[in-house]
Amino acid sequence: MNHEDLRIWSKKAADWIADYHAGLSDRPVRAQTTQGATAAQLPANAPEKPEALEDIFADFEAIVPNAMTHWQHPRFFAYFPSHASPASMLAEQLANAMSAMCMLWQTSPAGTEIEEQMILWLRDALGLADHFTGTIHDSATTCTLSAVLTMRDRAMDWTSITQGLTGGPRLRIYASAQTHSSIDKSVRLAGIGQDNLVKIPTTDDHGIDPEALDAAIKADIAAGYKPAGVILCTGGTSIGAMDPIAAGLAVAKSHDLYTHVDAAWAGTAMICPEFRYLWEGIDAADSLVFNPYKGMGVQFDGAIQFLRDATPQIRSLGLRPDYLETLDMDEVTNFNEWTVPLGRRFRALKIWFTLRAYGLEGLRQMIRNHVAWVKELEAKLATHPDFTITTPATLALFSFQYTPKEGDANALTAKLLAAVNNDGRVYLTQTMHEGQFVIRMAGAAFDSKQSDVMMVYDVVTELCQTL
Ligand SMILES: *Cc1c(COP(=O)(O)O)cnc(C)c1O
Repeated sequence: MNHEDLRIWSKKAADWIADYHAGLSDRPVRAQTTQGATAAQLPANAPEKPEALEDIFADFEAIVPNAMTHWQHPRFFAYFPSHASPASMLAEQLANAMSAMCMLWQTSPAGTEIEEQMILWLRDALGLADHFTGTIHDSATTCTLSAVLTMRDRAMDWTSITQGLTGGPRLRIYASAQTHSSIDKSVRLAGIGQDNLVKIPTTDDHGIDPEALDAAIKADIAAGYKPAGVILCTGGTSIGAMDPIAAGLAVAKSHDLYTHVDAAWAGTAMICPEFRYLWEGIDAADSLVFNPYKGMGVQFDGAIQFLRDATPQIRSLGLRPDYLETLDMDEVTNFNEWTVPLGRRFRALKIWFTLRAYGLEGLRQMIRNHVAWVKELEAKLATHPDFTITTPATLALFSFQYTPKEGDANALTAKLLAAVNNDGRVYLTQTMHEGQFVIRMAGAAFDSKQSDVMMVYDVVTELCQTL
């Protein structure tokens, strides 16, 4: 296959893509396949001789789509949405075609400068203060890892960069029990150790208790530990918990600790001013992350990390060997010094396309619709005698349980969820909340309509009668 063939096959792929999206609504959302079924259709070894694109494409059509869970389906309400707007997909094709490494300014000047500008556009769109700069990582996990590495090295007075942690004080990181597992992972990867991630109790509204945070830090100092940082969340993954950001950051600052806020999901909603009360005080954070793929149309991969001051993180992550020096230029941004990997994709292009193709007004309207429709579904489900709202909607996420008069609600809810996902009209997932098995409703997909969201009511109230 050569580049002339690519011209032909790209056009065929474009038609396939349009048909795929037009037909998504008729497919079951979750893959209706069994374990090993796809693998069984693949030969044991790679071919020795070139194969015809006709055959490769035909196999793709026969094997792949039916064994996929369709994340762009308008009734995908599982986990969190992972949007891919048409404008984003188009930009990804172009970035793909250039396949540049955006690690240094000179390896991709437009990549670096569009990335810098998109960070500023997004900072202003989210209503963040002018002191923030930032960069694009692959995922929220990597943003959080970068912040934890910075916390670690700053607390070690930067000796850890050359000498490691051996013989040093025992570091501590603080977060609530509602934070995402990426925080646990980051603390492990940073060599701080899971046991030194202190999970602070939450108040009745599931946000971190600032007094308990302060008390835990003081107790650790008295016991000889070295506190390094505090991680707060705006929108916990399980049920959308919101930490009190201003109070949490104030406690951290009073102990001179580095701070990071995980707003991977809820951050996208902050392009709407009416939701910003949920992270009141955010401008005092040293670092924060949000994922524009979770509800703002810009597809994975890509997570935005805003930094109050990039210098400490560059001190932790930046390395400049001779072969990466930019000769005769001092003042350029080399984003690899801000991030864990060296190689970096041109992720800013899809942000540029998406923000321009829909405008902030268009994206705000989508987010407002999703929140309104999910709240409407919540209200309707609340009127049904056999359903209980277990956690109310924060933004476009709530949880519920099937609670008929007779029977074990946990077991019945699990059975209902299996029936719903085998049915295929909608896709929902579960979490454990205060010992209860609950179903999460997380809306919505880029192409969802109000009727798609409301169909959840029809499907769950219909299928609960079949259990
Ligand atoms: C989704 C999510 C993450 C993980 O995001 P990745 O980009 O997959 O690493 C972390 N924190 C929260 C709150 C999330 O919702």
